[in-house]
Amino acid sequence: MPVSHVRVAIVGAGFGGIGTAARLLDEGIDSFVVFETGEQIGGVWRDNVYPGAACDVESHLYELRGTPNPDWSRWFARQPEIWAYLQRVVAERGIGRHLRLAHTVEHATWDDAAAVWRIETDRGDWTADVLVSAVGVLAEPRIPRIPGLDTFDGPALHTARWDPDLDLGRQRVAVIGTGASAVQFVPAVQPDVERLTLFMRTPPTLLARRDRPLGHGWRQRLGRWPAAKQAVRAALYGVHEAQGLPFRAPELAGVGAWLARRHLRAQVADPALRRRLTPGYRFGCKRVLLSDDFYPAVTQPNVTLAGGAAEIRPDAVVEADGTAHPADVLVFATGFHVHDFPFIDRIVGHSGRLSEVWRGAPTAHVGTTVAGFPNLFLIQGPNTGLGHSSVILMMEAQIDHLVGALAAMDAHGLASVEPRPQAQAAFVAEVDRLSEGTTWTSGCDSWYLDESGRNAAIWPGSVGAFRRRVAPFVPSEYVARRATEARPAAAAVTP
Ligand code: NAP
Repeated sequence: MPVSHVRVAIVGAGFGGIGTAARLLDEGIDSFVVFETGEQIGGVWRDNVYPGAACDVESHLYELRGTPNPDWSRWFARQPEIWAYLQRVVAERGIGRHLRLAHTVEHATWDDAAAVWRIETDRGDWTADVLVSAVGVLAEPRIPRIPGLDTFDGPALHTARWDPDLDLGRQRVAVIGTGASAVQFVPAVQPDVERLTLFMRTPPTLLARRDRPLGHGWRQRLGRWPAAKQAVRAALYGVHEAQGLPFRAPELAGVGAWLARRHLRAQVADPALRRRLTPGYRFGCKRVLLSDDFYPAVTQPNVTLAGGAAEIRPDAVVEADGTAHPADVLVFATGFHVHDFPFIDRIVGHSGRLSEVWRGAPTAHVGTTVAGFPNLFLIQGPNTGLGHSSVILMMEAQIDHLVGALAAMDAHGLASVEPRPQAQAAFVAEVDRLSEGTTWTSGCDSWYLDESGRNAAIWPGSVGAFRRRVAPFVPSEYVARRATEARPAAAAVTP
């Protein structure tokens, strides 16, 4: 079979992959494909169809540059609307012909002699000058190894692999976990189930969400006046930047903690339950969740708040103190393989597999490129996550970096760019210095920390600082190699 060559191969058709594709087209780059394992685009917004799934950043800030949506129906859009938005981006920006759906990338290996990535998919081989991994870090469900896991008789599923045909009516449902997914799922299903037992190992921190529908008049005005829409985005951006301060300045964390306590007091009358729901760690150490209906749901008579899940039996889940709670359905809201997602096993650079280089402790230059892996760009790489604003803003800074690299390669006839190990080490040291004294490293356990306890997920600064640091491509931070004659010419991909 002939090997097709493109300038850029993007892996993953979620916000990161679609955002990259849209931007490449804006830059006049047509020679690219987007490989996507699934039959449809959408990434986490295709996969997370559990009841209650919605965004926890206001939608006006959760959209891609170049495709504003004045028509969001609520402040915090729900999954179907966000997924539909992403499909609209694909249609309006002409990305469809670049998509290779139902194509799983099995290996991507850097060929130093030809200066290309050799990409094996289950439907044929490709080469590309540049590889963009946009597979996401909150994509691969993590199911904890609880004794007896395989013995459960009824349906057992993760929130990110929800079965919309599963009817929970009159069922006894056990939910394990109390993170962002559980906090949305529990109130959505509580009214319908016979009994819901919520297994909580650590109480979450909750603030009020105050979600509201956005009226027709408001939407019309935003559609008519792009400046008004921009102003809404700018205001939200500013508010979120301010909300990031308590995470980094311990002296301000008290304000957040006070707001969280006030929210709990207003919604849970029983002092004993309130005590159990009070976090025992510093505000923001674990992701701060927004919900107006989680606490009220937990106080309902058909809900039991249990401790951590210690054992699973065919018809029950046993909590740490030995109490067995009968269950017909088991729901894992237990998070994702953030630092060890499977795709890193499939990327092979100079120095071996990315998973072997990282060994559970991911690092990257400006969260985007990795020494030993020429022409590889990671959208949502290490230390590009956020707890206080829209992660799309971060992805867009990374895409700017990619576009800067492509422009430098064009301008100087370069075959490859790869971060200098010293530049990468300096960036990682900068992240570690900024992480010191922040709430994320204040002693609790969270998905932000890697196996060594280092903050490997969160950017410990403002969005503005990230954009200033990451968006520009700084040639002196890279080792560049000139193009050779042997390299295949990039072909435009035709529909
Ligand atoms: P998560 O925040 O990692 O929460 C996992 C939950 O499972 C935690 O409560 C954890 O308890 C519990 N858990 C894990 N292993 C356990 C075990 N062995 N026994 C008992 N409990 C266990 O996962 P998530 O809720 O899916 O959220 C992950 C991230 O995805 C969020 O922080 C957010 O960034 C994103 N997300 C966003 C949205 C949105 O935009 N609306 C929605 C969902 C998710 P411990 O706390 O004790 O470890």
